[in-house]
Amino acid sequence: MLQDFINLFFPHYCLTCQEILVKGETLICTVCFLDLPPTTCHQEPENIVAQRLAGRLPISHAMALYKFRKSGKVQCLLHHLKYGNKPLIGKVLGRRFGALFKEAHGGATLDLIIPVPLHSSKLRKRGYNQSDFFAQGIAEVLHIPWSNQHLKRATKAVTQTKMSKLERFKSVENAFVATNISSLHNKHILLVDDVMTTGATLEACGLVLLAAGIKELSVATIAVTTSSY
Ligand SMILES: [Zn+2]
Repeated sequence: MLQDFINLFFPHYCLTCQEILVKGETLICTVCFLDLPPTTCHQEPENIVAQRLAGRLPISHAMALYKFRKSGKVQCLLHHLKYGNKPLIGKVLGRRFGALFKEAHGGATLDLIIPVPLHSSKLRKRGYNQSDFFAQGIAEVLHIPWSNQHLKRATKAVTQTKMSKLERFKSVENAFVATNISSLHNKHILLVDDVMTTGATLEACGLVLLAAGIKELSVATIAVTTSSY
């Protein structure tokens, strides 16, 4: 009741349309949530994410939740998630992903969720890793653990926006290292990131995890770019 009273005087607004949120809504209103452009990844094994990684990584399940469009609501949410100090949006979207994953692959045997890490200097500056929160949301729904103690970013990220596909791969090729390797052995890992463009980051992380002895790899992202990059 106190929270209702507080909300009356200090309402929360939807991050994408600025309407006042009602009870049960977190950061984004129901209308906007339903308006986010879904992918068909959960129904189609040969989806856009799987196709983009084909021949580069052996993947069991590859899924992105939404299509990333320039100036769209997904881009707006991701901007808040990464730069607007709104990490909880990652958790909200993670829960949505988890629910869809459960529907599609109910009995899938995932053992551990690992988010793509940020370099420690970036983590200090931002205060959090947005992909950790996406991992947490998924973990909550699927009842499996997540860990940010198994993959480290050894080199600083450089902005990939204007790079070619090859340049992107080169920039992350040796950027990641696996840690606590003994506990990765023989596990089915779900690697998660915020956006997939060329897949260079997922590929680099996936190769490191496979080299560390995991049994199986799946990948999940909040969004995937659908136009040329
Ligand atoms: Zn809204």
